[in-house]
Amino acid sequence: MQTMPLTTLGHFVGGRAVEGATGRFGEVFDPATGEKARRVAFAGAAEVDAAVRAAREAFGGWSETPPLRRATVLFRFRELLLRDLDRIAALITAEHGKTLADARGEVQRGLEVVEFACGIPHLLKGDVTENVARDVDSTAVRQPLGVCAGITPFNFPAMVPMWMFPVALACGNTFVLKPSEKDPSPALAVAELLREAGLPDGVFNVVNGDREAVQALLEHPGIAAISFVGSTPVAEHVYRTGTQNGKRVQALGGAKNHLVVMPDADLDQAVDALMGAAFGSAGERCMAISVAVAVGDATADAVVERLRERVRELRVGPGTAAGVEMGPLVTGEHCAKVRSYVDLGVTEGADLVVDGRTARGDGWGDGFFLGGSVFDRVTPEMRIYHDEIFGPVLGIVRVPTVEDALRLCNEHPFGNGVAIFTRDGGTARTFAHRVQVGMVGINVPIPVPMAFHSFGGWKRSLFGDHAIHGAEGVRFYTHLKTITARWPETRSGPEFTFPTTT
Ligand code: NAD
Repeated sequence: MQTMPLTTLGHFVGGRAVEGATGRFGEVFDPATGEKARRVAFAGAAEVDAAVRAAREAFGGWSETPPLRRATVLFRFRELLLRDLDRIAALITAEHGKTLADARGEVQRGLEVVEFACGIPHLLKGDVTENVARDVDSTAVRQPLGVCAGITPFNFPAMVPMWMFPVALACGNTFVLKPSEKDPSPALAVAELLREAGLPDGVFNVVNGDREAVQALLEHPGIAAISFVGSTPVAEHVYRTGTQNGKRVQALGGAKNHLVVMPDADLDQAVDALMGAAFGSAGERCMAISVAVAVGDATADAVVERLRERVRELRVGPGTAAGVEMGPLVTGEHCAKVRSYVDLGVTEGADLVVDGRTARGDGWGDGFFLGGSVFDRVTPEMRIYHDEIFGPVLGIVRVPTVEDALRLCNEHPFGNGVAIFTRDGGTARTFAHRVQVGMVGINVPIPVPMAFHSFGGWKRSLFGDHAIHGAEGVRFYTHLKTITARWPETRSGPEFTFPTTT
């Protein structure tokens, strides 16, 4: 039987789709069937250079376009995203595997950043102080940086790019996006929508590829700033190499998010929260809860009993099937890695309460499926506690007091998200104040900040000085310039001392 050649995805440069030129490709799978669905071109340094040159050429015109006119393009882009929301969600499910409802939610959260960016002209207003000295005024303005690059992970192929480029473009920058090679289609669809919205050619470009394309971006002298989201080892590499090459870099890394269950918590509510936060999107979220910290043995016993049945009954299947709560993992390789962590947990001596390796479900076929796993009596020395597994595996750590829970969260090298479930306002307040983590939920399991706030972790979950989107995003994508002017131009003779107001 003759097999059909796979569709090949290329790049988007200078306002049009372009084919890859290196002859290197990656395979993109349908995680629900395990089949190769298409292939994606891998860019080399020359293609990255072409994209950066297109973005540099477009920078002059775009940066001089009045902020409201830039926002008008983003308004139109918002309308087109709404029109095509289901189509983009379907592309996400086809390459990532998450359920359609989850994929729609992802596009919706990205769209909120576009809506925030439509209002950025307000945040670009400068500060003015009259009469800092006689007849002298000071004006602080924020100006765009130039060409900015975004390097993004597989787990939110539409939302994470939208954490970046709407803010960068609204501030007057041009952009080169390098999406994940595992699910590149949503980024290309977004590029087409931006063109349809009237964005001038070259303002937004997409180069597909792997580490070679990333290295070319990190070393390219034409790039002013890099936003990265992905795993911690790569985030650290991107931060070091990018800053050594003189670029402004924000690099968001991995996570191990704890959810503390206090003895006074509403346990049904806490277990509902754990189910969604640990197993939604098959645990492939940087804000997924992968550790439940139960305060007191009675709390732990009650949580384990409730989870045991709920996790066994989890509806796992293709993301397009009705009623499915959890889809497959992104690739066969990643599925095998997560499975090996379940093996490791058993070897390390944790108590495997639910074994996702033995689960089977309707429509699984050769897809990259795994059931949800729960380990009880996980200890901080275990690798299943320490490492980011990035799959549907929840570990329960038992601690005697809230003070121990706090120490556990603070001593973990990651500091992305954390949650506490309690009915006691004082406990919640003290915990939120003292915990060394960037995003804190109180009776909220996945405290992802809204678009007009900023997203970012602490410790080894973020390298750089700025969180992403919101006001922090505007600061990241702009230079501050302060203009001191004397009008009328009065002559006061040469001054050899340092200028003061006296
Ligand atoms: P990844 O680090 O493997 O890949 C991220 C990007 O870096 C991709 O575009 C990839 O092509 C590129 N890349 C991969 N290896 C590289 C290398 N050696 N050199 C240069 N570039 C390289 O991450 P992933 O598996 O796609 O995504 C999952 C990770 O992302 C998890 O660790 C998750 O916690 C993290 N993440 C973090 C956040 C956050 O906001 N902190 C959000 C989403 C995902």
